[in-house]
Amino acid sequence: MTVLSADHISYQYHTKHETVRAVRKFSYIFEPGVFYAIMGASGSGKTTLLSLLAGLDVPVEGTISFGGTSTTEMNRDDYRRNHVSVIYQNFNLFAHLTVLENAIYSLLIRGVPRRKAEKAARENLLTVGLREDQFRRLPNMLSGGEQQRLAIARALTSGSELVLADEPTGNLDSENSRHIVEILQELAHKEGRCVIVVTHDPDLADSADVLLRMKDGHLVS
Ligand code: ADP
Ligand code: MG
Repeated sequence: MTVLSADHISYQYHTKHETVRAVRKFSYIFEPGVFYAIMGASGSGKTTLLSLLAGLDVPVEGTISFGGTSTTEMNRDDYRRNHVSVIYQNFNLFAHLTVLENAIYSLLIRGVPRRKAEKAARENLLTVGLREDQFRRLPNMLSGGEQQRLAIARALTSGSELVLADEPTGNLDSENSRHIVEILQELAHKEGRCVIVVTHDPDLADSADVLLRMKDGHLVS
């Protein structure tokens, strides 16, 4: 079954002086169990595309379908909460919540009991290489690379079918990058999730099953 399809989707930003056509008639079918990388020059529309796929923004034309249903016919909050995890370029961590609370948040809002959520989150925090003594800290007491790993652990904990990540290795050294790439591969190959990653990192792109390239808001290959 198809997880996610985009059919001629477009998105525009309106500024005072101009209209920026950030995504233009992008079409693609993303399958479960596959690890996709998206590359493209800065400004080619990659981040905008991810926010459309994540349901954070709505395309001005075209259709995004999830499991065969148009996302416009689904409750957008439900779609975002229950089916999608996003690892943002700027992490989007909750500044006033601890590392552990950040990691369990998505499970709590779905009604998972706290103990069960904490158990899952702890495992994933350790998997991405954070330490037990960091779990009670606030995110601003972590380095950039550690915050990035927390954002990844949060996505792992949520268990969503769709995992979307914007430059998830951007702040990591090569050893940690390799480790995160392995985790993303396992998510796709062992757990059958659909993993879509925007990257500039050639090693990450090489590890993906499918490499897509964007140029001026279009899919070029
Ligand atoms: P990428 O992630 O590939 O660098 P983006 O999706 O961030 O590309 O941006 C695509 C285009 O949309 C760029 O021309 C960018 O300047 C423009 N853009 C992005 N965000 C905004 C915004 N909030 N307002 C106006 N233009 C924007
Ligand atoms: Mg971007």
